[in-house]
Amino acid sequence: MVREDPAVEDMKPSSSDVWDCHVHCYPDFVISNPKAFSEANNEFHWLDLVSNGPQGWANPENLVRAMDREGIEKVVLLGWYWENPQTCRLQNEWYAQSVKQFPDRFMAFAAIHPEEKDPIEELERASDWGAIGLGECLPSVQVAEGWQYPAWERIINWTTNHKWPINVHVTEAVGHKYPGRVDTPLMDMVELFEKYPEQKWICAHWGGGLPFFSLNRRIKNALKNVWFDTAASPLLYAPEIWKIVTQLVGYEKILFGSDFPLILDPRNHKKPNWSKILSEIDNSGLSDKALKAILSGNLNHLVSLRA
Ligand SMILES: [Zn+2]
Repeated sequence: MVREDPAVEDMKPSSSDVWDCHVHCYPDFVISNPKAFSEANNEFHWLDLVSNGPQGWANPENLVRAMDREGIEKVVLLGWYWENPQTCRLQNEWYAQSVKQFPDRFMAFAAIHPEEKDPIEELERASDWGAIGLGECLPSVQVAEGWQYPAWERIINWTTNHKWPINVHVTEAVGHKYPGRVDTPLMDMVELFEKYPEQKWICAHWGGGLPFFSLNRRIKNALKNVWFDTAASPLLYAPEIWKIVTQLVGYEKILFGSDFPLILDPRNHKKPNWSKILSEIDNSGLSDKALKAILSGNLNHLVSLRA
């Protein structure tokens, strides 16, 4: 039997840990007046989403208090797909502070705009303050060419070399219409994964239904380095999705994510919390092994690959 180094063992999540791979968080001046922030920075797509959906808010301190209350051990702060390079830089500065403030509770993925003058320099800077991935990305909000914009090639080569996962927002292929909805054709996603087969991808929001197509041989192959997060699940899908997607892609490919501070149960709660999404997973009928993997083990594995 191979014994693990106890120091290494300490770093691993304990069996009951919950790590949330999909969280957003803002400083107080944004929370107190999102409209003024969006006007000052020309971020109207973001304003559309946060003004018209079941949006809650959390600054770093409130986020940690909510995590303590509900037993969430660690979260990944995700950057936004801001329409302007300087807003991406600004958010990276907030997150650098947040990670410094709560190093045991927060991990962070950097925001990037493909029109950033030197995106590699910004990625290096983010790596220096401790970012460990890129995203949430939705390039068609940033540039008309979307993923075809030439700078992505340099950016993705850098993230692949540095073993940074990229979280991509994927909209459900069919579903509700809501303000700010942006289509993300699944075939574009597949071609992106095929173009960069060594890059590790996290498709947000259950990949917009992409797991179903893993039954197709070409798609199954394209999804080799693709994981799926569960962000906003209770707002989008019936709870059977947990078991069904596990059957389709395997529990090893699913990462627990909430989209906090989105309010996942707006009929019963005015403030964001994890109660509905955690009760769905508790009642999903998945094995203990699968639950542990989805709730922390898979994310731990993915972010440890950098070492
Ligand atoms: Zn998203």
